[in-house]
Amino acid sequence: SDQSTILFHDSNSIPQVGLGVWRTPNDTAVTAVQAALSAGYRHVDTAAVYENEDGVGEGIRASGIARSEIFLTTKLWNADQGYDSTLKAFDASLKRLGTDYVDLYLIHWPAPKRDQYVDTWKAFIQLQKEGRARSIGVSNFQPEHLQRLIDETGVTPVINQIELHPDFPQKENRAYHEKHRIVTESWSPLGQGTLLENPVVAKVAAKHGRTPAQVIIRWHIDNGLVVIPKSVTPSRIEENFKVFDFRLDAEDMATFADLEKGGKRIGPDPMTAAF
Ligand code: NAD
Repeated sequence: SDQSTILFHDSNSIPQVGLGVWRTPNDTAVTAVQAALSAGYRHVDTAAVYENEDGVGEGIRASGIARSEIFLTTKLWNADQGYDSTLKAFDASLKRLGTDYVDLYLIHWPAPKRDQYVDTWKAFIQLQKEGRARSIGVSNFQPEHLQRLIDETGVTPVINQIELHPDFPQKENRAYHEKHRIVTESWSPLGQGTLLENPVVAKVAAKHGRTPAQVIIRWHIDNGLVVIPKSVTPSRIEENFKVFDFRLDAEDMATFADLEKGGKRIGPDPMTAAF
């Protein structure tokens, strides 16, 4: 039951399941990251704006697992967009994380009103050249934002991390990503917990003798998505990773498709977000 990885177009690869640590204070991040690494996770997703990069770094060091075995993602916050400010913010993130590179650096939001994401992306390209950001990608980008990066820099992000759950499957964005060899990563993959008591999910869970969280995570994996469920509870962290010894079949996928009818976004719309 080995975990699966997905290959980027830059030839690095990412473990398909990672631990999300949004709304996790530093001290809790230390223990959550340790619990995840001891359960077998090798991928952690944080961001400068989560204000827990210190805790994530400490958790990694306390785990005793080599830094080189762990895939670490952080994100640039909107207020730091722009070429020089990006380079500065990146240094500050590395310092807090206590590492000399990240595996993946993401532009957190396109923030189109700022109109700085192309300059920001140029700084990301520089950071990758320096080897300090092994891979570079984006989050919450719509196809028009991605197309601008590609047209103006010639460098395609390896991944786009977007809100995605079975009742908000983002099919148009995924089709665009596929065309450009951009991996899709699901944030709020459990719908921030709102899907865990859904009867459609319960039906698939009962069929497989699994928990609702496990079959939703498996839905992401079987759709070729990278998935970063969040929990700070060690038993749930473990549960969310015990997903590599079964898979969903066509019938399950059809059952899950029922959820799309009621589907909706939970988080901000990237086109109109206030920040
Ligand atoms: P999620 O969909 O992962 O749901 C998390 C919640 O589900 C937890 O708080 C917990 O209450 C519940 N839960 C988790 N596992 C469970 C289990 N096994 N049993 C019962 N309940 C369980 O929500 P999320 O935290 O919003 O998203 C995951 C990660 O995605 C974040 O931590 C963050 O890393 C990332 N994210 C990124 C962005 C972005 O803009 N890029 C935005 C939101 C989240």
